[in-house]
Amino acid sequence: MEKIDILSLTYDELQTSLVNIGEQKFRARQIYDWLHEKKLQEFSKMSNLSAQLKSKSEEKFWINSIKIQKRLVSDLDNTVKYLYRLSDGEQVETVLMEYKHGNSICISTQVGCKMGCKFCASTKAGYVRNLLPSEMLLQIYESERDSGRKINHVVLMGIGEPLDNFDNVIKFLRLLEEKPDMSLRHISLSTCGLVDRIYELAELKLGITLSVSLHAPTDELRSSVMPINNRYNISELMKACRYYFDTTGRRISYEFALIDGVNDNKETAESLIKLLKGQNCHVNLIPVNDIKDGVFSRSKSVESFKNMLCSGGLNATVRRTLGADISAACGQLRRDNQ
Ligand code: SAH
Repeated sequence: MEKIDILSLTYDELQTSLVNIGEQKFRARQIYDWLHEKKLQEFSKMSNLSAQLKSKSEEKFWINSIKIQKRLVSDLDNTVKYLYRLSDGEQVETVLMEYKHGNSICISTQVGCKMGCKFCASTKAGYVRNLLPSEMLLQIYESERDSGRKINHVVLMGIGEPLDNFDNVIKFLRLLEEKPDMSLRHISLSTCGLVDRIYELAELKLGITLSVSLHAPTDELRSSVMPINNRYNISELMKACRYYFDTTGRRISYEFALIDGVNDNKETAESLIKLLKGQNCHVNLIPVNDIKDGVFSRSKSVESFKNMLCSGGLNATVRRTLGADISAACGQLRRDNQ
């Protein structure tokens, strides 16, 4: 019988698994605390369990772990970038950022990515596999342990497309929901626009913020940089985003990476205003990160683009660049290390 990945189980699931092997319900609380509070990695050290339960647990479950392969600390702003090694040897990246309101972590949801966005380093080497809920959770646990910082904001914006690993990502969010000091209101999930999944996510009414990587206001331009647009065009995407807002009451945050000579001109700003006007949303402008061999370089007119959007009635801000000295953009470290 295959062992169960115990760190991917919610409290209720853990309880059911223990009852199924003839244990009493209260054991779930004990084991859950060892795993999620004390962050223990061995059943043998769980001192309030009987010897019999320890060995039974070892037979039934396995405790996942991840290891720091590389750590880069920014001299500019304390941003820490981790390259983590997973139990099968695959690697993902995690970025820890300091803000006035606390510490925020950007986690990966897949090893590699299938989406093929032209400007993104994460997708260049293709897709390997989905991350387990435990592997998303461990990026938080291990980063907290290593840095000594308490994390209270999570963004699913690292390597991978979270909505392409839907079930595991939802399970991970359920695990976060169980933490008394974590609120789903402090969690953002970024998607390139898997429309069917946006509807499914809306129905769950989780209270998280949905970030949508828009990057272009017309189908022609968007399809030229984001292949997903050939599957779900902008009008289908907008319909799903409006549905998300109507169903959850959470306004959408649109990501717009400004690329020199591609999407940073006046006409693009005007079509973006036309597209989003009247929607209760926010536009997050990102000065694009150059990736090695990338043909895209950073726009020189980020501020004027922002001003055009604001004058046109949109709510737009420029994302602060963190960890500029440690290539903190997603996918770059894993790629460089390969
Ligand atoms: N797959 C998801 C989440 C991971 S990418 C998504 O597409 O949203 C996280 C964000 O970084 C996305 O908005 C993505 O478009 C953006 N991004 C990718 N490469 C970038 C680069 N070189 N510079 C700036 N932003 C980039």
